[in-house]
Amino acid sequence: MLFNEVLDLKGKIRIYCRVRPFLPGESKDHSTVDHIGENGSIMIVNSLKKGKDVRKVFTFDKVFGPTVSQEQIYTTIQPLIRSVLDGYNVCIFAYGQTGSGKTYTMSGYDLNTRETWGVNFRALCDLFQISKTREDVIEYKVGVQMIEIYNEQVRDLLVMDDIYNNTQWNGLTVPDACWVSVSSTQDVLDLIRIGQKNRSVGPTAFNERSSRSHSVLTVHVHGKELVSGSIFKGSLNLVDLAGSERVDKSKVQGDRLKEAQYINRSLSALGDVISALAQKSTHIPYRNSKLTQILQNSLGGHAKTLMFVHISPDLEAIGETLSTLKFAERVA
Ligand code: ADP
Ligand code: MG
Repeated sequence: MLFNEVLDLKGKIRIYCRVRPFLPGESKDHSTVDHIGENGSIMIVNSLKKGKDVRKVFTFDKVFGPTVSQEQIYTTIQPLIRSVLDGYNVCIFAYGQTGSGKTYTMSGYDLNTRETWGVNFRALCDLFQISKTREDVIEYKVGVQMIEIYNEQVRDLLVMDDIYNNTQWNGLTVPDACWVSVSSTQDVLDLIRIGQKNRSVGPTAFNERSSRSHSVLTVHVHGKELVSGSIFKGSLNLVDLAGSERVDKSKVQGDRLKEAQYINRSLSALGDVISALAQKSTHIPYRNSKLTQILQNSLGGHAKTLMFVHISPDLEAIGETLSTLKFAERVA
């Protein structure tokens, strides 16, 4: 993608759909994905309907099939990521039901295997690499913040046991959450390991809890042009959202129901903000959730926003797949 096209992304919302491959144990006989078109279209087939299959076409900015690699995904978004070094604010969201591939896209699968690295490591490595090539003209400082939002409570993942509640909250940023300055990929790997470890000390086990919380990795870039002395700032927000699956209210109670309600509300608040931005509405309802409050300064205006919506090809997931695609269609 060329520079002009990157500038074109400004103020626009991009929606990319990613279909994960079948996992061991899933029946490959009936994929819900009938066809992926060149032009960003995807045809879903619902063969659970009695009588005959029902087909429906959705259209997004791009659709990535199950064989698309982590590297190909990164190459597509690379210009967007690099624009952070020119002072843009960029937000990338991963949306989808639990098990659809959000964490795979954002964090990757295994830190020790490079090919499986997700967007977050690739982006940070890339930012360091590019900033090095510019060091004669621009002095860059890079800081990282990692937070988790669980039941509308914000928790700093780079500091242990630090829970921010409403009263300490200023509504715009999380100034009290730790900013850690980083200058190499190794620094970032170390930090992300700390973040992941801290995420697992919640009241429930890591995997279970992580699917019910939003995690936000923010990379803050501060640039100083050496000749003119002028300063600029950019930010990259990488958001692995809580699972979008609907919880059957007749089957869960208590904490589980409360969690589900918080998740539903915050995901629809995010959808409302993104669609208000896409429609250039004069009122953007940022204040309806913690996530949109935190990202207020990074969404809208000159910011660039991209949402990866994830779906599974498994017929068992057809209901959630359709609701994910409808959500994406609504916000675009
Ligand atoms: P989520 O974060 O949405 O709950 P995960 O990212 O944990 O989902 O993915 C669920 C499972 O599917 C994991 O075992 C993951 O490794 C695998 N998976 C997801 N996307 C892909 C992909 N594109 N290629 C290979 N495996 C994938
Ligand atoms: Mg996950």
